Amino acid sequence: MLKTLRSCALASFAASVAAPVLAEEVNIYSYRQPELVAPLFAEFTKETGVDVNVVFLKKGMIEKLVAEGKRSPADLVLTVDISRLNNIVDAGVTQAVESETLSANIPAEYRDPAGHWFGLTARARVVYASRERVKDGEVTTYEELASDNWKGRICTRSGTNAYNLALTSAMIVHHGAAGAKTWLKGVKGNLARKPQGNDRAQVKAIFAGECDIAIGNNYYMKKMLSNPEQVAWADSVRIIFPVFEGGGTHLNLAGVALTKAAPHKADAVKLMEWLSSSKAQEFYAEQNGEYPVKVGSKPSKLVASWGDFKRDAIPLVEVAKLRGASLKMTEEVNFDE
Ligand code: FE
Repeated sequence: MLKTLRSCALASFAASVAAPVLAEEVNIYSYRQPELVAPLFAEFTKETGVDVNVVFLKKGMIEKLVAEGKRSPADLVLTVDISRLNNIVDAGVTQAVESETLSANIPAEYRDPAGHWFGLTARARVVYASRERVKDGEVTTYEELASDNWKGRICTRSGTNAYNLALTSAMIVHHGAAGAKTWLKGVKGNLARKPQGNDRAQVKAIFAGECDIAIGNNYYMKKMLSNPEQVAWADSVRIIFPVFEGGGTHLNLAGVALTKAAPHKADAVKLMEWLSSSKAQEFYAEQNGEYPVKVGSKPSKLVASWGDFKRDAIPLVEVAKLRGASLKMTEEVNFDE
């Protein structure tokens, strides 16, 4: 009822000044999959009456936003990986959001200090370890992955994949460029096979006996457990949360940014704030087996069952900015060769 009244008032006001009427809606360009976000937005619409329209993209989001310029219908962009969030900001197609709610709900290390992007869920880059062939306590740090103990025992996807580049960038933050390069060479020297496939393909390789440990994002455990063909892969491993020496477990983010064009800015900010609320945080994180970023919000029972860990505290904006350096380093050590 309230909404109808408000729309009428707006309509007559708009008619009197001959300006276009904007519907109560938010338009989103998303790299995240429909099944992860559709139930979330349905809940937002139910609570607020604001419709959410999502265009799901596989690539080309920045090019699309740049081409559309001021006439872009998009209000928000959703993506995973902090360097991708950073790239969107660097392309000049976002605007800063100042919101006490967002600042209060999202810890500073999980958002852009200038307010151009905000992390909404976090994923840990973990070690999947063979239940049969890896002893308890055999690996506790990322640094140890470069030690002789793991010669011929590690599987990983390409070193140039966004997830691995972020891990290498975090290693640079912790140990400097020279230290990180030595580490990366050490890990490469320990690989059981050429980097290939996605994170789940590494767990499959552990299941097949090709390697003993693999680097992967934590939520792939949930995906494997819900896929009948992959349950056996999941059952062959346990999750270990390595830490950086003197730090915690590496996290990456899925996040949101407000576009520069944002035709429905007020409703878009309302949705961003809603996504940072405890209820939305827990719901969103559960969909993909991730962790909420809001302090006090809990992961799902399944995710919690994999264990507790200390989150690495380095600001992820630093990690995002080192993407270029990590890529160069990964190529210099011929990681994928
Ligand atoms: Fe992923």
